[in-house]
Amino acid sequence: MAINLRTTQAETREQRLGTITHWEGNAGQLARDSAHTHGCGRGCDNGGRRLCEQSTPFAQASMCAEHIAVTNATIIQEALVIQHSPIGCAVSQSSTCRYYRDLAARRGWKLEDPQSICTNLGEQDMVFGGIAKLEQTIREAWERHHPKVIFVATSCATGIIGDDVDSAARQLEDEIGIPVVPLHCEGFKSRHWSSGWDVIEHGILRRLVRPDPPRKQDDLINVIHLGGPDVFTPLLAPLGLRVNLVMGGNTLDRLAELSEAAATVTMCFVLSYLATGLEQEYGVPEIKAPLPYGLADTDEWLREIARVTHREHLVEDVIARERARIAPELARLRQALAGKRGFVAAGAAFAHGLLADLRELGVEVDGAYSFHHDPSTDSGDPRQDTLSHLVETWGDIPNYTVSPDQHFQAHAALLRAKPDFVICRHSGSMAVLTARMGIPVLPIFYSNDGLGYEGLLTIGRSILRILPRKRFCEDVAAHSRFPYQPWWLEQTNPFALGADPA
Ligand code: SF4
Repeated sequence: MAINLRTTQAETREQRLGTITHWEGNAGQLARDSAHTHGCGRGCDNGGRRLCEQSTPFAQASMCAEHIAVTNATIIQEALVIQHSPIGCAVSQSSTCRYYRDLAARRGWKLEDPQSICTNLGEQDMVFGGIAKLEQTIREAWERHHPKVIFVATSCATGIIGDDVDSAARQLEDEIGIPVVPLHCEGFKSRHWSSGWDVIEHGILRRLVRPDPPRKQDDLINVIHLGGPDVFTPLLAPLGLRVNLVMGGNTLDRLAELSEAAATVTMCFVLSYLATGLEQEYGVPEIKAPLPYGLADTDEWLREIARVTHREHLVEDVIARERARIAPELARLRQALAGKRGFVAAGAAFAHGLLADLRELGVEVDGAYSFHHDPSTDSGDPRQDTLSHLVETWGDIPNYTVSPDQHFQAHAALLRAKPDFVICRHSGSMAVLTARMGIPVLPIFYSNDGLGYEGLLTIGRSILRILPRKRFCEDVAAHSRFPYQPWWLEQTNPFALGADPA
């Protein structure tokens, strides 16, 4: 399905990919049903049936797409973000400020706060419209800060009152002379926050990537990641490739260069909208290979990059050297982790990658919790079907729960799995829940930790570091209370409420 850059709005994941947020069963069935629904390119006579999302009559607070779009716009250097919303939507900017300053320190940027302003819509604006307030805010933002680009993020409130943000952005762009980029990320538009990635990547593709690139850089490879240290250069520099690391904190120059690169890879196909758009609009090939988690998939990932960038003569040496380098420690880690039971809670393709790492390390995993599920990717290429690949390579995951970070369901899933440890994203929520249940937890904020050959060692070492915290977590659990009734605290089926609403 083609990405439409003529419109300012990115289609939601539900519309483009059939994304679901609630499901329960085994991973093999979910992979078969996804292929049956969206076409796997391998025929659909595979025991699949139409993907049927499960339901639950109760929901707890979660994130929204606006949060993701705004955060990732805010951490672009020399940009300013205007949230056209009530002030409540802007509460997440306090943590984004911490995130930006941490990135700045790690990357050697000037240590300063990111620039963001909220239009603070109130009752009067909801009745009479908020466009005049938005126009005034854009002018003031320019006069006070002189950014190089201004993003205007919409919210549920502006979606309800129908403010014409596109026209205001166009008019003010002419007036002040810098790009004013609308981000259509009304929270209610999509049920999953990862649609926010598509919104910011849509804005980057339309307005910040250099069109008609004057030159191609044959040694430049775009790497799209969620954020964190550059673990890619040590892998790709021996192939003679320079890494253009984007998303998770960018400079505008890096974003402009996206169209000049020899290829694009993503560390997680949740972010593949940008890669697919670059291939479609600028002919920059998207690497279509398994993600680099585990030995064999990292080998294949490097071989495919080498094939696309014409470096086949270098790649086998790199693979052999890396495998030999990590072999002794990998053997020690496998020995130390034998018999341990792990559990992964993360988003879709990233969760599949961490599950592959655990199985490569010899850890038993029979339960996982994915924050959403994409039955397809924007390219529609079956080589990006990470769930099928996981099941085919490493075997099934018998208890696979899809839930948008709903703690009451995570509690049931963890009670059923009884793991020795948990690896999770969303350290402020999942990690706290897990520790309060007495289980050692490895929260991953910067999500490049498990990638490639070195990633296996990083994850293995980290697990060995957290396992001795069992006693501490049990003490925490002994002094913790959950706001659920006793009958729910005994539940091991995360969807028991949907099965029996009474
Ligand atoms: S955009 Fe909507 S869902 Fe998101 S924080 Fe604002 S009101 Fe809540």
